[in-house]
Amino acid sequence: MKLKNSPRLPSLGRIATVAICLCFARAQARSQATPQAAYRSAGVPTIAFSAAPVTQSLPLTTPRITIAPAPIPTFAAPVPAFAAPVSAFAAPVSAFAAPHVPNKFRPAILESHTQTSLVEQWKRSLEYGVLLKQNRWQGWSDSGSSSTPEIEWMESHVDPESEYSRLCRQTFSLGWDAVEAAARSQAGELAVIVDIDETVLVNSRFQRENYGNPSDPAAWEAWIKRMEAGAVPGAKDFLDKVRGLGPRVHVVFMSDRPEEMNAYTIENLRRQGMFSNGDIVLSRTEAADSKEHRRRCLSSGSTGTDPRCTNWEPMTIIAKFGDSLRDHFEIHDRGAAMEMLDDPRWGKEDFILPNPMYGQWIKDYK
Ligand SMILES: [Mg+2]
Repeated sequence: MKLKNSPRLPSLGRIATVAICLCFARAQARSQATPQAAYRSAGVPTIAFSAAPVTQSLPLTTPRITIAPAPIPTFAAPVPAFAAPVSAFAAPVSAFAAPHVPNKFRPAILESHTQTSLVEQWKRSLEYGVLLKQNRWQGWSDSGSSSTPEIEWMESHVDPESEYSRLCRQTFSLGWDAVEAAARSQAGELAVIVDIDETVLVNSRFQRENYGNPSDPAAWEAWIKRMEAGAVPGAKDFLDKVRGLGPRVHVVFMSDRPEEMNAYTIENLRRQGMFSNGDIVLSRTEAADSKEHRRRCLSSGSTGTDPRCTNWEPMTIIAKFGDSLRDHFEIHDRGAAMEMLDDPRWGKEDFILPNPMYGQWIKDYK
């Protein structure tokens, strides 16, 4: 206790005591003329400052605090005050959800991400990107990462301001313009085909959890059964609007998910608000059940032989949405893929959703 034994401490203590007493006396004199004087005289506890040296213990007096019952009615007032900011926050969200907004909201940041540029990206991938892509993924795997920039990019689907989200909404916006125009100009039963994975549902969590592992159908089916895939931004609004065109315009989910997984797939779509009774689901029944086969099934309808479609009138396919070449055209080799990428229907009847995580574009067509 060096301070207590210091020979200078008593004189410092006396000086401090005198100074504080003088200040306290002046404050007391002033307080007699203030409203607080009456308050103190009513017995409200005050804290008495001591001029004793710092080594002396302060008296431990605990002031009693009485909570009066009177404040209860005052709780009603803050509630409306809190309500105002909530509705203020709701405004931007509803603005994004409004169906007419995506058609008009095409910020400059997206100008480089047109349907044409996505097709060009596919072309470059087919021409040059396969080995580069595979090598880079291997590099990330070697680094011990449990993800890739591609997976992280897709996981930004939860952020409505992300580039991925804006790009998806732009694609569905362009697609809606085409679908609406086709529905007005074409008679008969019409089909709007949407792929599921990475077109209306996002599986980036599955990709992250299984990063570095070899492709495993059992792991994929286990993920489907979890029904936790997220929603591709803009998909729900688009599908709602398509259904609003009337009963002759059909939403057709065409996926290579196994048909026996349909119950889980539909429930996952329902949880994301994207399935409605009356929608058609054409999953894959076997390896040979190509999407081209199922497109013919829809077009033939009751005039064909596929029992999945014979209960329907033949449909005209007015638009296809997908993240893979085979969601749009049947391709068997690299040359055909390159040829299809020059098809004039891109951006008019066929719309690409971005998927940098995987796809036929990383396969080496020979
Ligand atoms: Mg897909």
